[in-house]
Amino acid sequence: MDLIRIKHVEKKYKNGVTAIQDLSLAIEKGAFVFVIGSSGSGKSTLIKMLYREEKPTKGQIIVGGLDVAKLKNKKVYKLRRKLGIVFQDYRLLPKMTVYENVAFALEVIGAKKDEIRVKVLKALEEVGLKNKLHNYPDQLSGGEQQRVAIARAIVNNPKLLLCDEPTGNLDPEMSMEIMKVLDNINKTRGTTIIMATHDQQIVNEMKKQVIILKDGHLVNFKEKGTYDNEAI
Ligand code: ADP
Repeated sequence: MDLIRIKHVEKKYKNGVTAIQDLSLAIEKGAFVFVIGSSGSGKSTLIKMLYREEKPTKGQIIVGGLDVAKLKNKKVYKLRRKLGIVFQDYRLLPKMTVYENVAFALEVIGAKKDEIRVKVLKALEEVGLKNKLHNYPDQLSGGEQQRVAIARAIVNNPKLLLCDEPTGNLDPEMSMEIMKVLDNINKTRGTTIIMATHDQQIVNEMKKQVIILKDGHLVNFKEKGTYDNEAI
């Protein structure tokens, strides 16, 4: 079953730049997919269209049965509840502890306190941070901060996890730690993961599906792909 179906999508920004051109692809439930391509190839634009930060100028995007471009603004929450997002720069709330940062994602949707506690502790255990519940973000390493951001993104058990250069600020060792966490979430929760990255080593070691973008075009979609410089 496909979780995502993209048909003939184009994204032209107001300044006239066409960031994505005639893109069609389908992503199966439970997949782990890397989106690779040089800077400016359209990776972030593709991710942003999946969570309706940007709308396509042509074509159709279906995520978990929702027609994303057609969704009314007041219904966007329905899409957002199906997915979690992880950014390069973590985006944690600096005045909240690790526990509070993750709990906040559930408080805003009105979850009960007991349910919040169970889910937050489970998510923090999965990312290996149960021993740092009461630390503040500035008391954590970059890799730890990103693991908090991942816990926050998965705490409500979304079907889809979108990651835009999640290891972009991390050294190779911390990056591999993050990849182990993401791989484990994909395998144990069955969460579909789409990750935009520049990181050659990660793509080559993980052996997942790979979407290659070049100048906004899909140039390849491979099983167990590698980071092939010639194609990029
Ligand atoms: P990548 O993530 O692969 O680096 P992006 O999706 O960020 O690529 O950018 C694709 C193209 O779209 C680039 O030419 C970029 O300059 C342009 N672009 C991205 N965001 C905007 C925007 N908000 N307005 C105008 N052009 C943009």
